[in-house]
Amino acid sequence: MNQTAYNPDEVVYRPRGGLTGRVQKHLARRFGVTPLKIKLDRPIVTFSFDDFPKSALELGASRLNARGWRGTFFVSGGLASINNHHGDLFDPEDLLQLQSDGHEVACHGYSHLDASRLTAEAVASDAARNRAFLKEAGLNRAPSSYAFAYGEATPQAKKRLLETYSSLRGVQPGINRGVADRGLLKAMPLDGGEAGLKRAVDAVRDVARNPGWLIFYGHDIRRTPSEWGCTPEFYDVVLHAVEQSGAQVRTQSEALKAILAKQ
Ligand SMILES: [Zn+2]
Repeated sequence: MNQTAYNPDEVVYRPRGGLTGRVQKHLARRFGVTPLKIKLDRPIVTFSFDDFPKSALELGASRLNARGWRGTFFVSGGLASINNHHGDLFDPEDLLQLQSDGHEVACHGYSHLDASRLTAEAVASDAARNRAFLKEAGLNRAPSSYAFAYGEATPQAKKRLLETYSSLRGVQPGINRGVADRGLLKAMPLDGGEAGLKRAVDAVRDVARNPGWLIFYGHDIRRTPSEWGCTPEFYDVVLHAVEQSGAQVRTQSEALKAILAKQ
């Protein structure tokens, strides 16, 4: 059997659902907010990849490179060199390549834990372990962006991590505009098949009409993607839409700097 094939029978962790999950998500979004005023004449788009699979490097990064764009790659050290439902994941040496190509190598927590089930201190110490992993891999720049695994956060973890990182990303769909939360930036997924592609392209059109900061996050890019991945064609359509939109494409940390410079 092809080692990289998506195995639908594999057990995949899913964060808490139901009422408890909804209440928890509401609290994480509503409280511990660090306001970020976004006032832009020209929209900004960020492409980010989580975990991240080799296909995000091979297709994701290379197609950004071809356009002179750079992306943000959220690394979980504990996922290095393994194979899971996203296919083969990155090897530590891939990180140096990304950094030398000008991409942003960012933090996703070492053990890819659900922060809503942990104390803020436990989330911070797992993040510190991941920074040590990145340093060990030879990266000379300390990561300044963080993405919560599964997008799960708490008000306390948001505040605690902003002591170390300049921005934190979640997975709540939407465009960051007006007053956003620097501790839980909204993002749109690169997944969901046809409906997901329409949602992604609509978001690009939306941000072009009413400038803000649109962050995409993806996982694998394959002919037969996982539930959280997309096909190469899906990705190309989104890249093309962004190209047509006149938006500037920036990494998460560069986008934040550009937004802060406008204040
Ligand atoms: Zn992840």
